[in-house]
Amino acid sequence: MPIDATLPYDDQNIFAKILRGEIPCKKVFEDDWALAFHDINPQAPTHVLVIPKGAYVSWDDFSATASDAEIAGFVRAVGQVSRALGLVEPGYRLLANIGMDSHQEVPHLHVHIFGGKPLGPMLMR
Ligand code: AMP
Repeated sequence: MPIDATLPYDDQNIFAKILRGEIPCKKVFEDDWALAFHDINPQAPTHVLVIPKGAYVSWDDFSATASDAEIAGFVRAVGQVSRALGLVEPGYRLLANIGMDSHQEVPHLHVHIFGGKPLGPMLMR
């Protein structure tokens, strides 16, 4: 079910539980600002999610209300993870879904990193 990204943060969402260590994840990276882990239902040979440590519903919430340090830390983490996964030379795709029309399902900001094969043009159906 897509979520309404204008609602307040729900601290019972699944990524909040992962951040608190209440449910496991296949972690690939963690620092003060971000956690990265493999998507449970990968859509490409490499499909990693990067989430900020702070409680932000979406990119909209994060870009409007996070501190400069949080934003810099998170953006740098996405780049660092992508480099560590060896994706720069072959190329990769970033995606952040925001709200109903995008079909965002988890109400904690996450950036998808897709790679590991030619991904083709981005298609809107
Ligand atoms: P979105 O539609 O952008 O909200 O994407 C949510 C993503 O979270 C989907 O790709 C799911 O496969 C993924 N996901 C949901 N639960 C988990 C989990 N426990 N661990 C890893 N990935 C998950």
